[in-house]
Amino acid sequence: MTASPRLPESSALSPVPAGIRDGVLRFYFGPMDCGKSTLALQMNYNHRRQGRRGLVLTKHDRSGGPQITSRIGLDSEAIEVTDHLDLVELVTEHKPVDYVICDEACFYTVAQIEQLADLADDLGIDVYAFGLATDFRSQMFPAARRLFELADEISRLQVEVLCWCGRPGLLNARVVDGELVHTGEQVVIGDTGAAPVRYQVLCRRHYRAGDLGTD
Ligand SMILES: [Zn+2]
Repeated sequence: MTASPRLPESSALSPVPAGIRDGVLRFYFGPMDCGKSTLALQMNYNHRRQGRRGLVLTKHDRSGGPQITSRIGLDSEAIEVTDHLDLVELVTEHKPVDYVICDEACFYTVAQIEQLADLADDLGIDVYAFGLATDFRSQMFPAARRLFELADEISRLQVEVLCWCGRPGLLNARVVDGELVHTGEQVVIGDTGAAPVRYQVLCRRHYRAGDLGTD
């Protein structure tokens, strides 16, 4: 692997031999439409401007409700992650790679989250994962849970999306035929418009009360 231009110099205090650095695994989470994919795209742009080489991965495009990926065109350059894709093999095939941006990481398999940690530890690649933490039941996605367990850094994204009442939107509600539901498959593909299943971001109070703010 060629040295990155951003390699920190090794010093007497550094436990890492010169020429080798650990990658960092960061997880940025927040409710849908809080700007995760926009930040992912911006991060990719910033790193590229520094001459770093990266891959952008995504999964389940346009699932979980109206997604921002297609709105900002991130999908046009992203690699779709399927359940059986080995991310270490993928990155190895694309070497040299300095960083990997993972959009919709909550939908990856737990094994793939382990592979992200391998990328950081074994290949010195920086991994920036973005995704939802919890599903429509307000329970953690398995991949998100594993990211909480393994990541070096975890950030709740500045929430720009609000509940209908004006409080910060924290939780993703699934709405079927106009009613908030708490049971069902963890991942159901939503769609825009008049689809029978849609998603709505609510504050905790109104998520728990099942109050969608409609008359
Ligand atoms: Zn509310």
